[in-house]
Amino acid sequence: MSFELSVPEKVVFGQGTLARLGELVSGFGNRALIVHGANPDRARSVEGLLAQSTTYLYSIRNEPTIEDIAKGVEEAKSREISLVIGVGGGSAIDAAKAISGLVTNSGDILDYLEVIGRGNPLTKAGLPCVAIPTTAGTGAEVTKNAVIASLADQIKVSLRSPFLLPRIALVDPELTYSLSAGVTIATGLDALTQLIEPLVSSRANPATDGFCREGIPRVARSLPAVVQNGKNFAAREDMALASLFGGLALANAGLGAVHGFAGPIGGMFNASHGLICGILLPFVVDANIRALRLRAPDSIALGRYNEIGRLLTDSPQALATDGSAWLTDLSKALNVPKLSSLDIPKESIPEIAGKAAKASSTKANPIQLTLPELEAILEAAW
Ligand SMILES: [Zn+2]
Repeated sequence: MSFELSVPEKVVFGQGTLARLGELVSGFGNRALIVHGANPDRARSVEGLLAQSTTYLYSIRNEPTIEDIAKGVEEAKSREISLVIGVGGGSAIDAAKAISGLVTNSGDILDYLEVIGRGNPLTKAGLPCVAIPTTAGTGAEVTKNAVIASLADQIKVSLRSPFLLPRIALVDPELTYSLSAGVTIATGLDALTQLIEPLVSSRANPATDGFCREGIPRVARSLPAVVQNGKNFAAREDMALASLFGGLALANAGLGAVHGFAGPIGGMFNASHGLICGILLPFVVDANIRALRLRAPDSIALGRYNEIGRLLTDSPQALATDGSAWLTDLSKALNVPKLSSLDIPKESIPEIAGKAAKASSTKANPIQLTLPELEAILEAAW
């Protein structure tokens, strides 16, 4: 056995831990760029915790584009920033990671982007970056890639480097208390997908398995509870921890076909990543179990799906199909829509399936799905 585990220098978790921000960043200089989403309120309260520092706010309205990142890098350079803080959902955190990594590396963002750029590796450590999630789902606070949209190419691609791992992930569940039910569901289902896919991934290792085994039951009991009552603080804490563990798992074990689909769909159409994953998860699990039973009945992954059945249902007798039935029931209970609700023309199924087949996430899927199988998943989820 051999594996690598990349994690931030420090992970700080707990209700009220945001108050420790000033102390945590005390060694990182005193000029901070605070990258945030559309609403600046959270960033302003972060500013209030950094009284010793000069702070600048930088807003990312949607998922960050190449232009957003280039502007942020310029801003950081001209302000002589020493520390980048990302506060928000995955978009704000990814933007903060990309800006902190590119400020210290010369050249253009396209020198480093995969697929549409030259894909060169970053050679220098970035500015210290602190990631403070305000949703419970993406796990972006502990991953080493930033998803960036190219409007010209209609595609989302990753800037990927060990240097993009935030120095500190500060996860305070209190920041998620006021999330709407819709955002809670979409991000929560992303978290669940990011715990299930690494557990059956062909790159799973014992450390990531531990994160998944700890995280899946927390989502199973707490996502329905927190959708019913957003002020259920114990359930909010469970979801924040599950999201963190999903991020640690995916960053080190990879994902699977759900994320293989989510990349191209998110690039081609304007739809939330979490919702796409939530819609597709039961259908991909179902297809994977069927393909494994047919073509690899002795595979470890089938045993893993049985385990997922037990983790989701809390029943020691549960099998793989009980897990996929549980996921289908969860979708119904949370009123998760079908793909047709996302305004995606049905004619694009072959194109989406073709792109998903080649996506890097799909390579970690526990079994290679055929093009007809990938298309059938989309048909079933339509
Ligand atoms: Zn995801």
